[in-house]
Amino acid sequence: MGVSATSIWKKGIIKQSEIDKYLVDGKDYINDEAIFSTLDKQANPDPKMIRDILQKSLSIQTLLPEETAALLNVSDPELWQEINETALTVKKRVYDNRIVFFAPLYCANYCVNNCAYCGFREANSREVRRILTLDEVRNETISVLREGHKRLILVFGEHPSTDVDYMVDCIKAVYSVNETAPKSGRPTNIRRVNINAAPMEMAKLKKLKEAGIGTYQVFQETYHRDTFSSVHPANTLKGNYRWRLYALHRAIEAGLDDVAIGALFGLYDWKFEVMGLLHHTLDLERQFGIGPHTISFPRMTPASGSWLSSNSEYFVSDENMKKAVAVLRLSVPTAGMIVTAREKAGIKRELLQLGCTQTDASTRIGIGAYSDQKKEFNQEMEQFTIGDPRDLDEVIREVGKLGYISSFCTAGYRCGRTGETIMGMLSHCEESKFCKLNAVLTYREYLNDYASPITKEIGEELIQQELAEIENSEYFHNKPHLLNRFHRDYGEILLGKRDLYL
Ligand code: SAM
Ligand code: SF4
Repeated sequence: MGVSATSIWKKGIIKQSEIDKYLVDGKDYINDEAIFSTLDKQANPDPKMIRDILQKSLSIQTLLPEETAALLNVSDPELWQEINETALTVKKRVYDNRIVFFAPLYCANYCVNNCAYCGFREANSREVRRILTLDEVRNETISVLREGHKRLILVFGEHPSTDVDYMVDCIKAVYSVNETAPKSGRPTNIRRVNINAAPMEMAKLKKLKEAGIGTYQVFQETYHRDTFSSVHPANTLKGNYRWRLYALHRAIEAGLDDVAIGALFGLYDWKFEVMGLLHHTLDLERQFGIGPHTISFPRMTPASGSWLSSNSEYFVSDENMKKAVAVLRLSVPTAGMIVTAREKAGIKRELLQLGCTQTDASTRIGIGAYSDQKKEFNQEMEQFTIGDPRDLDEVIREVGKLGYISSFCTAGYRCGRTGETIMGMLSHCEESKFCKLNAVLTYREYLNDYASPITKEIGEELIQQELAEIENSEYFHNKPHLLNRFHRDYGEILLGKRDLYL
């Protein structure tokens, strides 16, 4: 597409009416001054008040801004210990001891924006540009399936050649692939495709819904307006703060129930970003009755040709990342929380034990990098640097040793447990029961189809513990039909059947 066709395309992207309809008296839901003032007012929180807030979280309720601000301002290490322990208890209540795995698939790195922190930005002449053909998308899918994945998130820059119709074609290409698992020869396929892409108008979002996506993910990057303007030039699409602020409101209205929010940690003060994520949650809950399906807090890592990505004055330390994760776990107890391969193995492990529920593994973020098979990929085709390149098997083994079962469950959106339905189930801690059963079924598949002998050994022990826990659970005893179906499905998987879920 030529320069003038691209500028005509750009002019048609932002629909002001699809921003204005969500404003209240012309105002959006982020009030910088109010956030600063709440953080100031709660500068020295009383320990008794902190313990009351922890009790409220344990009853699985979204916290108020002043409560979140109080938690963020705790300085006593012993009180932090209590916060961390409560975060883990909340996680266990809502999500049990499972970690959901996924893989990102970068389809294209063309972009019309100029985000100061990203290797894909238009002005980065060092970036080697590429758009995967649909055959290449299928090949990437095959490589990811050979690792054992069932859930993919497709990632795109923002560009006319990779607009929604290309995305829909990629989604269909991924769903069309059928592979056989290396250890057992059993059939396998991708069962849930999520999308991380730029904000869109509702008509395009409906096309994504029809193509059968699971979650639609858009990160605000920073909720702080001045910082947002300084890292996203005003003459770019991404420079429109409010178009992005309401991307997920539009998505819910277009029928995409599972929406995912996030902030790029390292652009501005981390406490402000946690407050921004909370206000985003509260506004979704106020306008639609449902919060985000997941929250992400990618931490900025060095990107090709980006000075800011290595020199930001707001770089977030490991200690503060841990605090942010624990507070978010308590403030938005129903949300899944994602830690990605941007983080190194050690800190990733710690964040999983503070509240994160999802992670990626075997991650390659270069365009076409899964099929390429070379571990050292061309950084000039990547968006940023990753910290944990370990294979899925190794990460599953590690979390297994920590007592977590790895889940590839995709049952929720296929059984209609999305949006309001799933939020209700999560807040009554009921979803964790279904998740447990589905996690065990998909873990069983993984152990038979992919696991190395040592991972399998750890997994077998863990799965026996899980089976015993299910047998002894009062909840399942009161639901014999569910337990019977689980037994039947588990038995059939052992006999070679696949993709059974409750
Ligand atoms: N172009 C779409 C958009 O901007 O919404 C897709 C997003 S981009 C390919 C995926 C996410 O990567 C961004 O939303 C941003 O949070 C994150 N990202 C960009 N540069 C990064 C960096 N240097 N380190 C870590 N994450 C980065
Ligand atoms: Fe483009 Fe997204 Fe990168 Fe910004 S973050 S340059 S919009 S790919």
